[in-house]
Amino acid sequence: MFERLQGQTVLITGASAGIGEACARSFAAAGSNVIITARRTDRIEALKAELEQAHPNVRIHAVTLDVTSKEQVDQVVASLPDDLQQVDVLINNAGLVLGLIPLVDYKPDQIDTMINTNLKGLIYCTQAFIPRMKQQTAGGTIINVSSISGHDVYPNGSIYCATKFAVDAITRTLRYELANSNVRISALSPGMVETEFSMVRFDGDKEKADKVYQGVRPLTGEDIAETALFIASRPPHVEVAEAIIMPKGQA
Ligand code: NDP
Repeated sequence: MFERLQGQTVLITGASAGIGEACARSFAAAGSNVIITARRTDRIEALKAELEQAHPNVRIHAVTLDVTSKEQVDQVVASLPDDLQQVDVLINNAGLVLGLIPLVDYKPDQIDTMINTNLKGLIYCTQAFIPRMKQQTAGGTIINVSSISGHDVYPNGSIYCATKFAVDAITRTLRYELANSNVRISALSPGMVETEFSMVRFDGDKEKADKVYQGVRPLTGEDIAETALFIASRPPHVEVAEAIIMPKGQA
């Protein structure tokens, strides 16, 4: 089903944990070369070693990247190894939440951190890759990891939801801007996924998490990675505008 991904190159932001890490594993298993990026160098180096051993036929490259720095993004893109110059798939996944915080209590640095990571980071990476992908004969696919929180809101989630609504707006706008190009753009919007992120959201409180989950079995990173594989492996004339993936029973 994912044959088209064999030999393609995918760059994933925030690949040191959760959904991004699961995407790295799944794309490597599908035969893609994978560029793993995140801030935690030890984690991405460990993942690189593991994937190289499991999939000796694909190329794995790990590079430290903080997406909030436009300079770093541009530097990483400018210094891609010769054999990984053509990035076919960009997964804008890096993102965070700082807990459930009423709007009046947000500190300026918390607001900046969330907007700089979830929104500006995604913008910087997208800006860096669109011109390159346009020049590639085979074009490219950009997958923006948004959220169900880009469609609906919940109490004490104002800034996170605002960043994800903005990701959705950017993705939809780009569908117009890229309409006459060979670059596809998709939003991938998960509901609850059990990752380190979910524990931050619930302040590490498992009881609080269980109360919100209310018997619903949350998704795994692998569930989201499978959807990313599906989006990226469609034939060139097919663009998945948006995929919303929910755990069964999440209202
Ligand atoms: P995790 O906390 O498990 O992973 C987040 C990843 O983002 C890490 O690899 C982290 O790496 C990276 N990251 C954070 N800040 C930066 C930064 N400044 N630069 C580069 N990388 C960064 O979270 P998830 O896997 O759950 O989340 C991934 C995406 O999925 C996010 O965009 C999130 O909003 C979205 N999402 C998650 C849901 C969930 O329920 N879990 C639901 C819907 C959407 P490092 O710290 O090493 O830099």
